[in-house]
Amino acid sequence: MRVLFSSATIAIISLFLFTPFAPSVFAEKVKIYEAGTSNLNVRSSPSHDAPIIGKLQIGDQVRVFQKSFGWVQTYYGGKKAWVASQYLFQPDSKTKAIAQVASSTQKSIKKEQNKKTETISRNNFDNNKGQATKNGSLKGYNIVIDPGHGGRDSGAIGINGVLEKETIMSIVDSVVDRLRKSGANVIMTRNSDHFISLQDRVYISNSYNTHAFLSLHYNAHPLIGIQGLETHYYSGGENYALASSLQSKLEQYTSLESRGVKESNYFVLRESEVPSALIELGFITNPNDLSIIQTEGYQNSISEAISDGVKKYFRDK
Ligand SMILES: [Zn+2]
Repeated sequence: MRVLFSSATIAIISLFLFTPFAPSVFAEKVKIYEAGTSNLNVRSSPSHDAPIIGKLQIGDQVRVFQKSFGWVQTYYGGKKAWVASQYLFQPDSKTKAIAQVASSTQKSIKKEQNKKTETISRNNFDNNKGQATKNGSLKGYNIVIDPGHGGRDSGAIGINGVLEKETIMSIVDSVVDRLRKSGANVIMTRNSDHFISLQDRVYISNSYNTHAFLSLHYNAHPLIGIQGLETHYYSGGENYALASSLQSKLEQYTSLESRGVKESNYFVLRESEVPSALIELGFITNPNDLSIIQTEGYQNSISEAISDGVKKYFRDK
């Protein structure tokens, strides 16, 4: 289903700690920093004398809204809070610590991170550009997979009340798994049924050293005869190349009708700072599409097609 920009979104998400926020902050450059030490004090104002209102542990991530004389401002429990900047660093460019972090600390951070279960906020990305090798490895590439809708946004409603937000999740694991087997680092904008704003989806992607952003959806139409899959891009050669590569593999690997590549002014595509595409993987309002969509075979084909489409894009680049 089409993704439209909605300004009336106040996201309550669990992806990042401590920072419920209003959409207006997206006008500013909000940066994510990571605690490089444990038991780091969170204070109510930028002073070592200020009351301690919380603690951060090593690897915890905070959104930084402003900096002031050695302090950074974030939110904690919904209120403005301050953390001494010397203990924070940017996870997506470890070399650019905003203050000196001893190299021994850096090493222990890395060690600690390696032990952690992979989550959205703690993926350990390097800045090396990936190399799509002849055997099709995606090693070194950071791919964002954005399952459409979620939570109070059910997306399209199909035959027998099938919900787009649920149907899409049933295919996402397989897609992510396939990309990871190809060597890619994969970030998901959501991995459960919760609401996440369009702004946040893009924000997550733009916060990392992402190489490609893929939003996955199922389509709907009032006429049940409308069927097939299509890939959308915003504009520009790179976006078009990515979308074309994906669509050509989808055509090759699935039996659904191809509706081609379409240029669309969708928020998540327009605001993405990296090559992006939005794939509509068939119509849940069409009996033929829906019967195919729900099979394991289709899910495997889609996963192969997306993985190979991404590889082809990077290889041809
Ligand atoms: Zn949708």
